[in-house]
Amino acid sequence: MSSVYEKFDLKQVINASGRMTILGVSTPASEVVESVSYGLNHYFEMHDLVKKTGDYIARLLGVESALVVSCASAGIAQCVAATIVKDNPWLLDNLHAAPLTVPHEVVVPKGHNVNYGAPVGSMVALGGGRLVEAGYSNECSPAQLAAAITPSTAALLYVKSHHCVQKSHLSVAQAADVARQHNLPLIVDAAAEEDLQCYYQMGADLVIYSGAKAIEGPGSGLVIGRSRYVEWVTLQSKGIGRAMKIGKEGILGLTEAIERYLTQPKISGSEMAAHMSPFIEQLNQLDGVSARVVWDAAGRDIARTEIHFDEAVTGWSTGDLVQALKNGDIAIYFRGYKSNESIIEADVRSVSAEQLQIIFNRIQTLLATGSRA
Ligand SMILES: *Cc1c(COP(=O)(O)O)cnc(C)c1O
Repeated sequence: MSSVYEKFDLKQVINASGRMTILGVSTPASEVVESVSYGLNHYFEMHDLVKKTGDYIARLLGVESALVVSCASAGIAQCVAATIVKDNPWLLDNLHAAPLTVPHEVVVPKGHNVNYGAPVGSMVALGGGRLVEAGYSNECSPAQLAAAITPSTAALLYVKSHHCVQKSHLSVAQAADVARQHNLPLIVDAAAEEDLQCYYQMGADLVIYSGAKAIEGPGSGLVIGRSRYVEWVTLQSKGIGRAMKIGKEGILGLTEAIERYLTQPKISGSEMAAHMSPFIEQLNQLDGVSARVVWDAAGRDIARTEIHFDEAVTGWSTGDLVQALKNGDIAIYFRGYKSNESIIEADVRSVSAEQLQIIFNRIQTLLATGSRA
């Protein structure tokens, strides 16, 4: 559909950065698109649609309860609101006016207080909560997490993500123990994670996923957990959830995507590595460039191409090069987290062999032309 690109004067994009929200995250399978279209073209008793798709997903995953929401961020906000309001009808209507004596603090390891494109603390605040950090930016033990709990605590929040500090931080299972000992719920933000069951099994009460990332559904989110808590989250459709409601098309699209995700064979890290090997070979023939396979830092089965530039040889600052690749006629996006160390990473899950060749040609041309900086 190049006409959309032409009509609105948009650039074509090669996405070598992974499931990036700023590029439109993922491209759902045709069965998912069909479910979305079916949803758009029919009427439902919405209460039943929400409840019964949730029950279906819960059975697929072997968890007590599930609920489709509009995105992971909305899931965080509604889970926080749920742990503050519970099933109190007055609080449900008056969360915005709730007295500060209602427990509303959400304790998070300091190294998990991240900005994933928006601050996690903003989502907690949207849900009426206030983020309280535990431990230090480089360490948080179970005891340090517990030390931040007060009578004002409503919930514990654990962010499972490559964005977080990984070293010297407690595990999900340890956080669940702390929650249990203090009779508090544990919320896990696992937005981009691939395993839809393990955090629930480790004892989390509510686990939140982004529907468009690993699951490759439409714009949506998933909340799973213990029935009591998921029921409280569902109640929020009459509270803050109204401002972040998902449509019937997203509910059906995500349900289909989850079923496919659980039953279709996934591309493995070693298949990704094989797909990128000709690209790596070509890159290694360029002066001042060395490329190799690296594995996902958060332990997922994802292989990426790491490209290191010797700036003294190339004459390019890696940051400028990343920018120049975005600025071409076709915008090429890499993972640029380490460009200050002269390293960029390519995630090739959404990149065809032809597109890898386009990327290589563009890098070769830019290096030959030299930096304009
Ligand atoms: C992407 C992400 C989110 C937000 O997901 P959305 O579905 O875009 O709202 C939240 N937390 C983490 C750790 C993420 O990676």
